[in-house]
Amino acid sequence: MKTVHNFNAGPAALPPEVLQQIQEEILDLQGTGLSILEISHRSKEYEKINGETQQLLKDLLNIPHEYEVLFLQGGASTQFAMVPMNFLKSGSVASYIHSGTWAGKAIAEARKFGEVAIVASSEKDHFKKLPALDNLKLPSGTAYIHLTSNETIAGTQYKYFMEPQDVPLIADMSSDILSRTIDVSDFDLIYAGAQKNLGPSGVTVVIVRSELLKRISTTIPDIMNYRIHADSRSLYHTPPVFAVYIVNLVLKWIQANGGVRGVELWNRAKADLIYRTIDGSDNFYSGLADRDSRSLMNVTFRTSNEELEKHFLLESERNGFVGLRGHREAGHLRASIYNAITYDQCKALSEFMKDFQKRFA
Ligand code: PMP
Repeated sequence: MKTVHNFNAGPAALPPEVLQQIQEEILDLQGTGLSILEISHRSKEYEKINGETQQLLKDLLNIPHEYEVLFLQGGASTQFAMVPMNFLKSGSVASYIHSGTWAGKAIAEARKFGEVAIVASSEKDHFKKLPALDNLKLPSGTAYIHLTSNETIAGTQYKYFMEPQDVPLIADMSSDILSRTIDVSDFDLIYAGAQKNLGPSGVTVVIVRSELLKRISTTIPDIMNYRIHADSRSLYHTPPVFAVYIVNLVLKWIQANGGVRGVELWNRAKADLIYRTIDGSDNFYSGLADRDSRSLMNVTFRTSNEELEKHFLLESERNGFVGLRGHREAGHLRASIYNAITYDQCKALSEFMKDFQKRFA
């Protein structure tokens, strides 16, 4: 098999052990004689996977008992609409932190449902850094605050969050959930598409404080109602069983690798290695995000000109590095180094970058 280092931003690399296990179990799920793809979501086998996966997530993130864990469909983009649909009532205001493309999409969706206030923004800095979270002036009647913990395209990530406020805090953690320890009790709702750190696309994890579910207006469609999903333990309708099964395997893999704290240590070492390569390159490479806002998950960088960048991509692909092209909206280069990317793969990338520099500086 060809050795490929997969730096894609999402869907992204999965741990090889997990892929192997999927292959082994695809025809016979744990001695049932059936494939996970052909069993009922009401079967005891799936009930076990559903319950166990929720519990694994609770254990790994230390989720307090007053929270619900949901497995929904429609990607994080559906959450952009579901959040205001459930919590932005007429007469109230939703306060958003505008930190980049993904926050911008969440804001645009919320505006379709009611009044939105941008309480902090780094748009004038072209989202190279994250807006500060202290001294926010929240309009009266704020229903919730929304932030994006990691901007996948700009390559920025909050290191700290705000002090607890009187209003619910909602976070899109699609591109950094389970990459580092967080205190779930600082948040009232967290959502994340699975296809970066949790598994394949097709399932979105929602962690929500039970108390918040009481505020949901009853006039929204059931399929969009968090309370309906919570009451039915994510079995209101046919869930994405295959995706949840893979999340289950990925969570067990994280558990076996030292839990969130274990992967966080590696993630810090991996990011540090690549940023040091960029910073030590005498400006041959430069980082796109301000140092203080740099992401441990998506390292965005550039070379001095477009021709060189094209050549970098061509050569990197020839050498087995895939997914290094930046997002179409940001351009340039990006290495996404989620949990499943190893330190050795980052080392291989760093060595490739140094060698490329030697030949083209
Ligand atoms: N939020 C963030 C931070 C993302 O990175 C992405 C996807 N890259 C999304 C939301 C949208 O996710 P989806 O494609 O699952 O709707």
